[in-house]
Amino acid sequence: MEESRIAFLQRLINSPSPSGFEQRVQQVIREEMQLYTDEQRTDVHGNVIAALNPNANPRVMLTAHCDELGFLVRFIDEKGFIYFATIGGFDPSTLPGERVQIHTANGPILGVIGRKPVHLLQSDERGKAPKLSEMWIDIGVNSKEEAQELVAIGSIATRAAQLEKLHGDLVVSRALDDKSGVFTVVEAMRRLHGQREKLKAGVFFVSAVQEEVGLRGAHTSAFGVDPLIAVAVDVTFTSDHPQTSKHEIGDIRLNGGPVISIGGRINP
Ligand SMILES: [Zn+2]
Repeated sequence: MEESRIAFLQRLINSPSPSGFEQRVQQVIREEMQLYTDEQRTDVHGNVIAALNPNANPRVMLTAHCDELGFLVRFIDEKGFIYFATIGGFDPSTLPGERVQIHTANGPILGVIGRKPVHLLQSDERGKAPKLSEMWIDIGVNSKEEAQELVAIGSIATRAAQLEKLHGDLVVSRALDDKSGVFTVVEAMRRLHGQREKLKAGVFFVSAVQEEVGLRGAHTSAFGVDPLIAVAVDVTFTSDHPQTSKHEIGDIRLNGGPVISIGGRINP
C-alpha cells in the first residue's frame, strides 16, 4: 500500500471515536472527502455524507461505521482510582492489564486497567472473567483530588494501542472495526473520482456513527440519502484462525477477498 494511504489510515486510528463521540474522526474524514467528492455535509446525528454526482440517478450509497468501542469515566474513588462504563460490547477478559488513553481537554492521559491480583483471588474466582465493576483505571495518582485535576467525570477513553505493522503487509491496531471499513470505502470513492467521466450514478459516501451501540447511524443516514442500492462494509471473523471452524462460519480467509452477505435483509 502507498505510504500516503497508510498515513490516512493512521490518522483515522489516531482520532478516537467511541460511539456518540465521533466528531474528531469525522473531521478527518470530511477533509479527505473534500478531495474526492462534489459536496459534503454532516447530518444532525453526526453522519458524514459526501457525494459524487449528487443529482444523478440511480443513487448508490457506500457506507462504513466510524465509531469504535470505548469507556466512559463514571466515578473516581478516594485513592484516585477511576471506575468506568463501557461504550459498546467488550469481552471483559481482554481488559485487565490493558493500557488506555483518557481523552481530556488537555490531551490524552495514560492509564492501565487494574483488577485484584491473581494470587489473591479466591478459588471460585480463578479462571473466570472479572466483572467490569471489579476493574478500574489507574493513572498513577494518590488521591481523588489529584485525579480530578487531570480527568473529569464523563471523559471518554479508548484502548491505547495504535496502528503498527505486522509481518508482510498486515497491520494491527485497536478500532480496525470499522476504521478499516471506512478506509476501504474512502479508497473506493478516491478511485471513482479518478474515473469520474465514466460515472453515471450518484454515489453517496456515508461515514456512519453509533454502530457499536445499535447500528444507528446507518439507519438515519439511509433516510437522508434515499439510495436504490447500499453497500455496507464491516469486519468479520475468519476460519483460518485457531478455535474457529469452517463448519460453523464457512471458508473465510485473511487476504482471501471480501465476504459477501446475502439473504432476506440484504437482497430486495
Ligand atoms: Zn463493525
